[in-house]
Amino acid sequence: MLVGLHDADNTGFPNIPLMKLSAAYKQAGHEVRVYSEEITFDKVVSSKVFTFTPEQDLPVSTVKGGTGYRSTTSLPESVEHICPDYSLYNCTESYGFLTRGCPNKCPWCFVPAKEGDIRAHADIEEFTRHRDVVLMDNNVLASRHGMDQIARATRLQLRIDFNQGLDARRISDVEARILSKALWLKPIRLACDSATQMPSIQKAVALLRWHNATPRRYFCYVLVKEDVQDALERVRFLKGLDLDPFCQPYIDEAGTEPTLEQRQLARWANTKMLFKTMTFDDYKESRNGRV
Ligand code: SF4
Repeated sequence: MLVGLHDADNTGFPNIPLMKLSAAYKQAGHEVRVYSEEITFDKVVSSKVFTFTPEQDLPVSTVKGGTGYRSTTSLPESVEHICPDYSLYNCTESYGFLTRGCPNKCPWCFVPAKEGDIRAHADIEEFTRHRDVVLMDNNVLASRHGMDQIARATRLQLRIDFNQGLDARRISDVEARILSKALWLKPIRLACDSATQMPSIQKAVALLRWHNATPRRYFCYVLVKEDVQDALERVRFLKGLDLDPFCQPYIDEAGTEPTLEQRQLARWANTKMLFKTMTFDDYKESRNGRV
């Protein structure tokens, strides 16, 4: 059977379920290709992560999955735990989850409803085929298994990146010591989605610096909801700690476009040349109603 795999979002970031399906179909003896309108496939599978990605014309028999299609179907366990076929995207890094879920219930976040409480998901060797490993856990520090796997990655000399950001509220001396021994692929990423997280971030960064975690730069996601002044306060606070803020305007499930001011804050804070040379007020004035 010739199987076409369609990445509806096409962001350039590898779609993990499609890489796992590719591995499973190949293991079962089928031929797999990236979907193209010019090829006649026996079966087409499409995956969509984001609800706001527009739907494309696909054969009527296409099997669709992923949050973007509002699908609640999960991959079968045997496919969920197969090593992804990294050749589908010519990856030079491995991708996966050590844990799924999150014990927190931030009101803006879909993870608790979709994935439930934190639980162990996989050992790092299950999906690692490269020295560099990108981990997409939502709250790895809330899991004993997650912490054990970080220590295991260090023993295996793997370079890791938690690309969803780490929850600073979970970083005490024990966690800081384990994290400081890890080999980091990128600056350590934290998240500051609300003002209540600021004291925890200050404490976590002090502990990580005390334990000489490297690299010395820290990156911090800043969720920008309608209250832009609140986000700006967090940005100022992070700058004071010598952290690199990265603003993300909030997009709700319906894909509502963020306001001009939300987008302006993101553009100003995320463009280091602007961030280091002018204030946000000066930036807004200079843009005259444009982003
Ligand atoms: S800590 Fe992160 S993953 Fe967990 S509920 Fe809050 S935003 Fe979602």
